Amino acid sequence: MTKEEAKHQIESLRKELRDANYKYYILAQPDMTDYEFDRKLEELQALEQKFPEFFDVNSPTQRVGGKPVTEFNTVKHKYPMLSLEKSYNIQDLKDWIKRISKLVDEKFSFCVELKYDGVSLSNQYIDKKLVRSLTRGDGIFGDDVTINARTIKTLALVLKGKDIPDEVLVRGEVMMSRNNFKHINDQQERKGDTIYMNARNLTAGTMKLLDPKTVAKRQLDFVAYIMIGNDLPVQTQYDALKKLEEWGFFVPHDYIKAENLDEIMNFILDWGVKRFEFPYDTDGIVVKVNEFDIQEKLGYTAKSPRWAMAYKFPAERKLTKLLSLDFQVGRTGKVTPVANLKAVKLAGTIVKRATLHNEDNMKKLDLHTDDFVYIEKAGEIIPQVVSVEKAKRKPNSQPIHFVRQCPVCGTPLIKQGADYFCTNTTGCEPQIKAQIEHFVSRKAMNIDGLGPEIINLLYQNRLIRNIADLYDLKSSDLKYLEGLGEKSAQNIIGSIQNSKNQTFEKVIYALGIRHVGEIAGKLIVKHFKNIDSLIQANIDDITAIKGIGEKIAESIKKYFSNPENIKLINRLKQAGLQFENQQENLQIADKLGGKKFVISGTFEHFSRSELKQHIEQNGGKIASSISKNTDYLLAGDKPGPSKINKAQNLGITIISEADYLKMIES
Ligand code: AMP
Ligand code: ZN
Repeated sequence: MTKEEAKHQIESLRKELRDANYKYYILAQPDMTDYEFDRKLEELQALEQKFPEFFDVNSPTQRVGGKPVTEFNTVKHKYPMLSLEKSYNIQDLKDWIKRISKLVDEKFSFCVELKYDGVSLSNQYIDKKLVRSLTRGDGIFGDDVTINARTIKTLALVLKGKDIPDEVLVRGEVMMSRNNFKHINDQQERKGDTIYMNARNLTAGTMKLLDPKTVAKRQLDFVAYIMIGNDLPVQTQYDALKKLEEWGFFVPHDYIKAENLDEIMNFILDWGVKRFEFPYDTDGIVVKVNEFDIQEKLGYTAKSPRWAMAYKFPAERKLTKLLSLDFQVGRTGKVTPVANLKAVKLAGTIVKRATLHNEDNMKKLDLHTDDFVYIEKAGEIIPQVVSVEKAKRKPNSQPIHFVRQCPVCGTPLIKQGADYFCTNTTGCEPQIKAQIEHFVSRKAMNIDGLGPEIINLLYQNRLIRNIADLYDLKSSDLKYLEGLGEKSAQNIIGSIQNSKNQTFEKVIYALGIRHVGEIAGKLIVKHFKNIDSLIQANIDDITAIKGIGEKIAESIKKYFSNPENIKLINRLKQAGLQFENQQENLQIADKLGGKKFVISGTFEHFSRSELKQHIEQNGGKIASSISKNTDYLLAGDKPGPSKINKAQNLGITIISEADYLKMIES
């Protein structure tokens, strides 16, 4: 392929992929299969690699995120990013309309749109291409987060359509959908990690990450609501939104042209209800003077434009009575204070319990017995206590303190970050039950029929105390349990037996090691071919895996350093669970003829875990300590002196890394 041909092909692939991206993400009407998309993307990647002179930061290949950075540059906004004046009731809105009507003589209309509750972003386009994205910052200076912005699939990197000025600013809101937020929090919960408070905070945190690849994974969206520039092709806000749509942006899901307060009111009433079903968090609506020339006449205050007004939805907040406070122990031992409340309806559901998050939050609230509390839904989903009505407090009520011991098993709690943990992971009832629930869940061992109630029954009847006990269950144990017939008992046992076919990566995930989610499970299994090499691995071996950090490595190490867990694994092994990677463990060659190796020290060409893997793939075996059955001590740099001594005493051959490489070559 000539250079000219390559350039042509690269450009045409980029256009096709951009189009497909637009149809998939913005229109939700894909016309290319995922397979086709991936194939074309790969073709483009290959061409871009071969012809680096045609590199383009706005190529669809760059959506996955570039290299991490150490900091963001601060850049001055061309036009300051102001805030919006806010109103909380209709009277305020009425007053505003009266006020501005006095300032101009002409008749004007309004554009009314949804107010998205996310993080604002200002994007500069020159010659249709995205050149820079700035956060709001203090309104005058913002952070240049362009590398992160480029990963947002619904942010146009190259504008399409007509009437695009040479230079234009497109501002809008970076959002995380509620579904996506919930999904991320579910994963956090399964890993035993902190639950994020709401989508906005998580979005703000994500945009500040220095690693764009992680940002890409969070699947943020961008909603455009304003264009700014010198020669705009439109004269009104309403037409601007239409134009932005043509250029390839998401714009506020609903917007109308309104002539008067009544029409604005209808929109507010409509969305005051609909917003609970809407996929993104909205906290109100924005009313803007529609005509740009009138906007200009009205101008700005130091803080906000005079031509716009936000109307904030009243936060759904209810007052109710605190009946009692539970300290709930989760799968990882984390203790969460949860209020039991007199039932109230809040934003569409009946609420009887609300979280208090942690001790700091409880202290801030200064909660007392029999208090009346206000509750709200965080990110419209999780009910939480937001304040206490002190006027209703009884004189003899007592302050409520965070517990210092596990409310279930009495173990003294350990503080980590803002949270307290019960460390009795193998003996604390709610932890055990939650571990079993996690173990049997669909994405883990996929054992059917073992819901929380049955698990509780099995626990109460002393039939299970840990995950390994599941494999000792017989249908005769089950069939007398309340509500379980012979048939369902048999089904459960069948499903337990079946689970022995679950792959190694599912097993690793099912163990419920803190911070080890599905993705970490996959990465670990790719790297360590069996459980024994994982158990023996040290922190460095584990963090050598791309995508696995220190936090996860330490948690793994901690898990395997608990003898109870090793016992558990041995029982699970005996039960026949998959503890090695079936496919990838397949030996590639039998150059080492089953010889037993012990390794010591560090190596030039391999990390220790890579070396172990290499030996196994070539038909050798690995042992952790030297015995008379050992064939070779493979000693790298700074080997352990005791191992050397022992090998010499037993007359075991000591070889170097170079010797080993020669063995493999022959
Ligand atoms: P606040 O952050 O409460 O001062 O509200 C002002 C912010 O609302 C703006 O800076 C924007 O980030 C955001 N916003 C959300 N939706 C819109 C919209 N449709 N028009 C203008 N601003 C919006
Ligand atoms: Zn406990």
